[in-house]
Amino acid sequence: MGNKYEEHFRSRRTFKCPCGESSYHEDHVTYMNDYFNKNCETFCTMDCEKCAIIYSLWFHEWVKKDKLGAYNKSNEEFKVWAENATHQLYSRYIDKIVQFLSSVAKTTWHSKWISFGNSVNSIGTFRKDINRVGVDNYVKSELKRSLNIGILIGTVQWINTFLTEDDIQLISEHDQFKAKLKHLHDQMRNSKFVGRLINSEDI
Ligand SMILES: [Zn+2]
Repeated sequence: MGNKYEEHFRSRRTFKCPCGESSYHEDHVTYMNDYFNKNCETFCTMDCEKCAIIYSLWFHEWVKKDKLGAYNKSNEEFKVWAENATHQLYSRYIDKIVQFLSSVAKTTWHSKWISFGNSVNSIGTFRKDINRVGVDNYVKSELKRSLNIGILIGTVQWINTFLTEDDIQLISEHDQFKAKLKHLHDQMRNSKFVGRLINSEDI
C-alpha cells in the first residue's frame, strides 16, 4: 500500500496482422498508487504465428525482423569501431582539448557540443556540472565514452589542430558508418506495419 503502484485499469485493442489471417493486440495498462498518481504501460503481442516469424517489435511498433536485424548488427559493429576510434583520438588529443576548452566561453562550448550531437540539457545544467567537477574531469569523463565519438571528432576538428592521415581516415569511417546507420534505420522504419483496428475492449 502507500506509494506502491497497483494495476487499476486494462484495455485491449486488437488489429489485423500483416498477412490478414489473424491479429495482434495491444494491452494498455494503467497503474495507480494511494495518492492517485498514475503510470501506464503498453504491451504488444503478435497473435499470428506466420507474422511472428517475419515481424519484431521496435518500441511498440511492428517492423520486419530482417530489417531490424540488419540495423542492430550495424549498430553493434559501430560500437566496436567507436571504442577503438575513441581510444585513439582520446590518447592523441585529450590534453590539447582540455587546454582549449578551459579558455572557451561556456556558452560557445555548449552550443558547439550540441551541434556535434551532444544531448546535454540546458546551459544551466551544463555549467553546474562543469563547476561541480572542474573542466578537466568533465571533459575527460565525457570524451572517453565511446558513445560520444561524434563530439570527440567535432572537438578535434574545432581545435584546428594538424590532423594526421590516421585521423582523416577515422573521420571518414565515422561519416560512412553514420550514413549507413541512417539508411538501415530508415529502411527498418519504412518496414513498419500498422494494422486496421478490429476490436477495442476493457478487460
Ligand atoms: Zn498474420
